Amino acid sequence: MKTGVIGLGAMGAPIARNLHKAGYLQCVWNRTPDKAQQLGDELKVSVAHDPAMLARQCELILLSVSADSDVLDVVQSLLPGLAPGTVVIDTSTVSRETARQVADMLQPAGAAFLDAPVSGGTEGARQGTLAIMLGGETAVVEQVTAVLDSIAASITHMGPVGSGQATKAVNQVMAAGINQAVTEALAFATALELPLDKVIGVTGSGAAGNWFLDHRGPTMTRNKYDPGFRVALHHKDLAICKHMAEQFDVAMPVVEMTLIHYRRLMEAGYGDEDISALFREKLKLFAGNNKRP
Ligand code: NAP
Repeated sequence: MKTGVIGLGAMGAPIARNLHKAGYLQCVWNRTPDKAQQLGDELKVSVAHDPAMLARQCELILLSVSADSDVLDVVQSLLPGLAPGTVVIDTSTVSRETARQVADMLQPAGAAFLDAPVSGGTEGARQGTLAIMLGGETAVVEQVTAVLDSIAASITHMGPVGSGQATKAVNQVMAAGINQAVTEALAFATALELPLDKVIGVTGSGAAGNWFLDHRGPTMTRNKYDPGFRVALHHKDLAICKHMAEQFDVAMPVVEMTLIHYRRLMEAGYGDEDISALFREKLKLFAGNNKRP
């Protein structure tokens, strides 16, 4: 399938590279044109002047932009170029409502839609090992599975449009809880003056082991917070989760607490750092205390 990628950021650019490697990439577009031109020159694929021009060349269009309003803007500007039968897949993390709204916008043009948020970070995007959570019709999922195989290690069809984003919201709550637990525990280990590499090694090989500890533990304990997954993006995702929980009249403690911590980090200028920068906040818990037990 001739595939176009819209949004060539930390996720979109490596996704485009993997689609190119598999022979699917036809065209790219990015809001800041230099990025698209650079990648187009490197991969020798067509660079569109606008989303509609990309749509005219592609059977499948994959989006990777930031937030809800960005997805809606891009889809609006795709419409004049869409042919019936085109499939649009959004890999951005946005709300379930936005996914449903996009499907409704595309329907009069005869285009199909899948919400396809991803997990696995920039490493997963580079290595083509993302986990994709899909919402949409089974027939459309079957049509695009071969293409998605070139960017993902796991593709799970969750249900109708919106189910992918709902699943991603669940994932983001878990990611927040894991971040809270790992950064707090490693700040505690720092205060206890334990050898941190050994703590990460031994706890990581037992019941407390997890991806975040393995991958971000060694960097956060050296004060390195290169993205990764940016604080500001996870904050955006947790605001979506908060809104979804409010529909049940519920406030989820992990979400509420992490939103407060991320807001502090963003106000201190750390919004573009990896989410493991939460370690900065956790170290402060112990910093003001001179007691040596
Ligand atoms: P990023 O590096 O900030 O890139 C964002 C991309 O979206 C850029 O290409 C940007 O264009 C484009 N964009 C933003 N607003 C736009 C608009 N109104 N119109 C057109 N283009 C627009 O972000 P990212 O890390 O790639 O994340 C992309 C999406 O994937 C987000 O929804 C994020 O939550 C999700 N996600 C990220 C990760 C991760 O680890 N980074 C993991 C899973 C999911 P410009 O170049 O012009 O700014």
